This record gives sequence, C-alpha cells and structure tokens, in this order.
Amino acid sequence: RIIMGIESSCDETGVGLVRLHDDGTVELLADAVASSVDQHARFGGVVPEVASRAHLEAMVPTTERAFADAGLKMSDVDAIAVTAGPGLAGALLVGVAAAKAYSVALDVPLYGVNHLAGHIAVDTLQHGPLPKPCLALLVSGGHTQLLRVDDVASTIVELGSTVDDAAGEAYDKVARVLGLPYPGGPPIDKAAKAGNPAAIAFPRGMTGPRDAKFDFSFSGLKTAVARWVEGAERRGEEIPVDDVAASFQEAVADVLTAKAVRAAKEAGIGTLVISGGVAANSRLSSLARERCDKAGIELRVPRPRLCTDNGAMIAALGAHVVAAGAKPSSLDFAANPALPVGTISV
Ligand code: ATP
Ligand code: MG
Ligand code: FE
Repeated sequence: RIIMGIESSCDETGVGLVRLHDDGTVELLADAVASSVDQHARFGGVVPEVASRAHLEAMVPTTERAFADAGLKMSDVDAIAVTAGPGLAGALLVGVAAAKAYSVALDVPLYGVNHLAGHIAVDTLQHGPLPKPCLALLVSGGHTQLLRVDDVASTIVELGSTVDDAAGEAYDKVARVLGLPYPGGPPIDKAAKAGNPAAIAFPRGMTGPRDAKFDFSFSGLKTAVARWVEGAERRGEEIPVDDVAASFQEAVADVLTAKAVRAAKEAGIGTLVISGGVAANSRLSSLARERCDKAGIELRVPRPRLCTDNGAMIAALGAHVVAAGAKPSSLDFAANPALPVGTISV
C-alpha cells in the first residue's frame, strides 16, 4: 500500500511517499521538502505568518515533486497521513486542509498524526522496525524530550522534557550571541570542530541531586554563554568563537547523552533512538555512540535529512498507524498546536 505524508507544522513544507509492505516494513519512495527558513533568517526565528503563507505557496508544487520523484500517480495513493500537531496553528492548518482535500478527492482514508511520533517513526525508513520498547531522545528547535516508545503507532510515554528552552532553541540563541547565522545548529557545529570543548566550563543544567532525573534545562546555559561573551567584550578581548561554540556544544551533548543513557539503563531498554534537527549534531552523535557502546545500548540516529522536519516521517508514521489497524480520523478533526506526545493519531 502507498501512504502519502504531509508535514507543515513549522517552516518546512514536506510531502513524503512510502510503501507499506505486507510484512510491516516501510520503504521510502519520495521525500520532497520546501523550506521557508531563509525568509525567517533576518528575524532570528520562525515568523508564523510568513511560514503559513510559504506553506500555501509550496504545498501543491511540493506534492507534485514528490509524485514525480517516486514515479507515481496520485491515484496510486491508498491512505494519507498529515501532521495534526503539535506546531504553529496557522502552519498546521495549511497541511490539514490540503490533506482533507486530497482525501476527499482521491476517496482514501485520512490519518491525523503526531509530529513528534513522526520524528521517531522516520528511523524505520533507514534502520528497519523499532524494537519494542525503545527509548527516544527527541531534540529539535521546539522540543527536547526523553520518551519511552512501547509502540510508535500507539503508545509513547514521556519520561522527561525541557523545563525552559529546547536544545535547538539554545543553539539558535547562542549562535546569535556569537554573531553566527540562523539557524544556529550547523554554524556552531562547524565552529566547534576548530575549538576546544574544555576551554570554558559551562553549567550542566538540571543535573543536581534534587533536580528531576530526566528533565532538561538550557536557559541557564544560554545565559552563561551570553554573560561570558559580554565579559570578554567588556575587557576588550577578542571572542574565541570556536572555543565558546565547542564548550557550549559539549555542555549540551553531555547532559543529553548522560540522561538518555541513564534512562535506558534504569528502564532496562536496549535501544536508543535520537531524532529531531539537533540529532544532526556531530558531537551529540559521537558522544552518544561512545556512551551507548560502553553501556551496551544499541544507538540509532537517522541521517540528517530525515532528522529535520520532512513529509517522509509523517508518511512513515502513517504507514505504522495503518499497519496497526487504527481507525482513520474523521474529516472534521482540527489541527491541535498543543497535541500531547501520547496522542499518536487523532
Ligand atoms: P519541531 O521542534 O516542532 O520539531 P523545528 O522545525 O524547530 O520543529 P527541526 O527542523 O527538527 O525542528 O530542527 C531545527 C533545529 O535543529 C534548529 O534549532 C537548528 O539549529 C537545529 N540543528 C540543525 N542542525 C544542527 C546541528 N548540526 N547541530 C545542532 N543543532 C542543529
Ligand atoms: Mg524547521
Ligand atoms: Fe520537527
């Protein structure tokens, strides 16, 4: 069966196509993405109205590109999945409206699904079925969560999350302080390669004895970096951008991987999946690899293209939801900007 996935929760318009095989495996056929990130760069963050308009303009061309890439016709589609939330209300609305229209026009069932679960399900396109249970560390521009995934199509439980900024948000804000472009993840990752991660001892948030074991905090770290840079500027010193980037990145990777490995050990879970845009970070994956190897935990990190927002992740989740025999969504469901991670299909 062919499943089409539509994503529009933030600033990427994504349309993916996958094939659900009879044995339950899911194969990637097309992954077309249009991003409005360049239009947001000068604001240092996503502007919701700009994102919504860009989705409107990109939805049909991106859909056409996906079908051309896969060599399929729209009439080949057997089911449609669309991001129902969480995300920006106006942005979600565009994808949901398009998906409803295609569902009616093609007379195929529609599944409104959870964006966060999609970030996990996408790994099955690269590494095959997920063991049940597995642990997921979801790190993106809007989210930082540690999740126990009993079944990606039906049962996800949150073990912890950030109490303030998301990891990607911290990258974007620190990049700004260092005069690096938006989005901040890639330029900090690059600068850090030339820097010394032990140059500055930045704080590791939420690691005190009284802190919640699996929650995260990055706002103190962001402030510490800003204070450090201000201090150096006040003294008229040149900012060692590479060292600051490397030391900041080390603090983020240290806390994320330490908590994820600890959660896996305590829950007796043998597989860790890291996904979301920040999973593309080179130090996060190398440190996770090191610590997982030591703890005997299997680590799965989808390739960067699959980690950032895309339509294939929604098609993949849709395929698992279809395979699980879930009921299609009623055509009058509404996008939910605050859809909880435990609600996988609406
Ligand atoms: P959501 O949180 O709803 O999933 P999003 O669009 O913000 O939405 P993604 O597209 O998954 O999330 O990720 C974007 C984030 O990933 C940005 O904050 C960006 O800075 C960060 N990022 C991308 N590449 C890297 C990298 N190499 N290192 C660190 N962070 C990165
Ligand atoms: Mg994005
Ligand atoms: Fe995302």
